[in-house]
Amino acid sequence: MPNVTLEIPSVLRRYSAGEASLRVEAATAAEALERVFDVYSDLRSRVLDAGGRVFPYLLFFHNGREVRRDALAETVLSEGDVVEMIGAAEGGAHDDVRMRGFRTRVSVEEALAVAVDGLARLPAEDVAVTESALRVLAADVVSDVDVPPFRRAAMDGYAVRAEDTFGATLYNPVRLTLCGESMPGGPAASAVPAGGACRIMTGAAVPAGADAVLPAERAREGEGVVDVIDAIPPGKHVARVGEDVDRGTTLLRSGRRLRPQDVGLLASVGCSPVSVVRRPRVRVLVTGNEILPPGSRPDGNCIVDSNSPMLAALVARDGGGELEVVRLADDRAAIRGALAIEGADVILTSGGTSVGREDYMPLLVGELGDLTVHGIAMRPAAPTGIGRIGAARVFLLPGNPVSCLSAYDFFAGPCIRTLAGLPEEWPYGAVELPLAGRIASQLGRCDYVRVTIGEGGVIPLATKGASILTSVTRADGFVVVPSASEGLPEGGAVVVHLFDGWSLGGA
Ligand code: AMP
Ligand code: MG
Repeated sequence: MPNVTLEIPSVLRRYSAGEASLRVEAATAAEALERVFDVYSDLRSRVLDAGGRVFPYLLFFHNGREVRRDALAETVLSEGDVVEMIGAAEGGAHDDVRMRGFRTRVSVEEALAVAVDGLARLPAEDVAVTESALRVLAADVVSDVDVPPFRRAAMDGYAVRAEDTFGATLYNPVRLTLCGESMPGGPAASAVPAGGACRIMTGAAVPAGADAVLPAERAREGEGVVDVIDAIPPGKHVARVGEDVDRGTTLLRSGRRLRPQDVGLLASVGCSPVSVVRRPRVRVLVTGNEILPPGSRPDGNCIVDSNSPMLAALVARDGGGELEVVRLADDRAAIRGALAIEGADVILTSGGTSVGREDYMPLLVGELGDLTVHGIAMRPAAPTGIGRIGAARVFLLPGNPVSCLSAYDFFAGPCIRTLAGLPEEWPYGAVELPLAGRIASQLGRCDYVRVTIGEGGVIPLATKGASILTSVTRADGFVVVPSASEGLPEGGAVVVHLFDGWSLGGA
């Protein structure tokens, strides 16, 4: 007889001593139920009516595939199979919303509060300075050295005492005695005496006694002598110790996303390793039987996954680290397994978030953790969900690409940036311009309106059409119509968030 698992919905767990599942030996789904009733006898009257028929408020799944409730006796089980019983009734985190629609939708503001609730930036880790570009500093960097650490020549020529050159002209040169040579990285040349000139190259140490570097073109070198044809003032072409960086200077502040030049500066003061904020580890679960991997061509009734490449780029922009993309069919057991894997700071799911028959995501997040938000008063992206599984924040992003993008930008982006030590706010620049056409909106719903900027101002492109990815590629940016607004009048000033030229400031 096969060993199988029967899962009990949360609404019925008070009849199963709180147990969420039970392993039993059974050949069919109906038999598995009987074995469970053997252990928890109170369950029977909650699952079967007086005539032995399953109550209509329960749904059954065999290894992720739905089974009609009158077909349990014909559902033959094999070793290791899973039979799930799900409460279609209201109440509890495991409430099955499928095919019922959303009862309530939370506001964008409430959903954002949930997305970043209790978050702080991740702990610090050390990376080699050569790996530190675009990372976020976890601590202020104070230099413990001077740069340069020695008096350095800024020209090729001769280290001299400036006063020895006074009065020199092309027609009345001053003759100095060649007294040595100082090369970059070489040993210190001996001190320059009065009337002496030491041959020197850019980057070499200026010998004691000298207080200026006479550029080669202002001198003519002969046998053991240097004729100066132009005077120079003291200090000329000599970089003082600490000219660039004085020891003890705070160079860069904690929270700074390191620019290429910052990395150069850190290297110049010998700062390595660099203490940076650990980057959030993000796992993307792409679901859909109709989805082909990026790199494929659309084929038959299948489309190519546009969401995961887009999400990968967004996560990189927002300071995310290692990104793992897992591709899954609309298969309950497979999705459950992938959601249960630990190690990610953030899980982004694509597809299956709504109230369709194959939309397992909300149920599974509720089962494995908490689904705090499901259904948001916005368009597009209403079927977005937000929750947690273990230590991971989970964002259920709708499959439609525009919804996926806006749900990411509204909720997942702020979470990832906060973990990464970056500002929570949108990285998009913003401009305020008059609206060239009216935007209609429903009271109580926040709209994400794609717009272009033209001669006459801001031109609305689209509010609807969550599947039309070209609406965001043709757009220059987007306007957010808040839920308290019924629309925006033509000619009114609106803020456009610009897709191009984003920046992640920080300290
Ligand atoms: P779903 O959220 O699974 O109900 O999917 C909504 C729509 O988005 C369907 O037309 C899907 O085919 C489409 N879709 C789902 N996932 C993706 C994806 N990764 N890339 C592009 N389109 C998708
Ligand atoms: Mg789907």
